Amino acid sequence: MNNLSQNGLLQIFVGLGVSITSFFLNASMNSSKFTLLIFFGGAVFFYGVIKYALFKSFYKELPTKKEEQKSVQEPPHKTTSHNPTEDLLVCQNCATKHYPNANFCQVCGAKLKN
Ligand SMILES: [Zn+2]
Repeated sequence: MNNLSQNGLLQIFVGLGVSITSFFLNASMNSSKFTLLIFFGGAVFFYGVIKYALFKSFYKELPTKKEEQKSVQEPPHKTTSHNPTEDLLVCQNCATKHYPNANFCQVCGAKLKN
């Protein structure tokens, strides 16, 4: 659905649908109640056509760009293969965790390394 609204096809179908149903509603009820809706549908339709044309001419490379972004987004998880929580020192006095290079607890000041 998201791609459909992006490339203008949704507007084309919705615009056509609104315009045609309004036209037939006008004809069947023998009134001009829906004339405005016919123009509205037409406007949406042409908006969709323009959007679709722009999408076709400018966004041809979009799928490959999305693939590139995906490949860029994945690595950060892999770089943290080394789990930092394993090396953390736990204070025996107050149980707060500290980086392995710490000598004293930052909360209670107790010595971390014996
Ligand atoms: Zn402590």
